[in-house]
Amino acid sequence: MTRQPPPLGRSGIDRAAHLRADDEWLARAWANPSSRVIVVDAGRALIEHDALVALRPADSPAGERYFLGVAAPSDVEAAVGVFAVAAPLPDPPPSGMKAANLREVGADLSDADAGLFAHAAALEQWHARHVRCPLCGAETVVALAGHIRRCVNDGSEHYPRTDPAVIMLVTDVDDRCLLGRQPSWPAGRMSTLAGYVEAGETLEHAVIREVFEEVGIRVGDVRYVASQPWPFPSSLMLAFTAKATTTELTIDGDEIAEARWFTRDELRSAITGGSLRLPMSASVAFYLIDGWFGGDLARLAQ
Ligand SMILES: [Zn+2]
Repeated sequence: MTRQPPPLGRSGIDRAAHLRADDEWLARAWANPSSRVIVVDAGRALIEHDALVALRPADSPAGERYFLGVAAPSDVEAAVGVFAVAAPLPDPPPSGMKAANLREVGADLSDADAGLFAHAAALEQWHARHVRCPLCGAETVVALAGHIRRCVNDGSEHYPRTDPAVIMLVTDVDDRCLLGRQPSWPAGRMSTLAGYVEAGETLEHAVIREVFEEVGIRVGDVRYVASQPWPFPSSLMLAFTAKATTTELTIDGDEIAEARWFTRDELRSAITGGSLRLPMSASVAFYLIDGWFGGDLARLAQ
């Protein structure tokens, strides 16, 4: 049986990229009260009953506007779109609603909402950080319905960036799994190892290098598992498994403060005994650990 993708990688929304340059369609969709607008602010949006709060365009606050796509094929003909607008959220939130980021609510949202939120949060945070042209320093403005910025001085076009990060479940010959704790995390919180891909490096090499740097373990047989967006602010998490060819841990103390091997029984008793806290269930780290553990980790970790 094929496993479902990780929670934030399940979007069913058609991004309808061909409509981004269609100003007439975009204007019709914005004038259509059936269109929906998600307001995003520093990666956060309003949530009510485990769903994104969507406004009609007429009720949306002013702000940069990004076209996210269409929810159904018939919405193209009917000019019904889904948009994001970058604007401050009401503070405090309206009754029954909360302001949250994707990390906090991603695992509870529908697949469509999780995909929309990831897209909106990634765009909004990229735009907020790229208001100047990297070539000449002049102002840039939103173009192509929020999918590029264009320099007002030299006309150069700048595309949203995504920073690839590898995250890996390392197992040894006895099929024990390796978890580590970053120095900033509280005692008892552990996760899989992870790190950013460096310039000019392959994903497989990044996995091998990061594991050796952080815990002194040599790994091989690096295999791709899945990916999901992690817009904090602009990562794409690429998940792998890797097999350790050595087992003696040498902790670097800088990126990792402690690490250890777990059998499934040890993991189960550490969680139920309260000495181990796993990453949040929206994360691809949890997805990887759950895949090794054999399912039902979500129930155990509650
Ligand atoms: Zn420029």
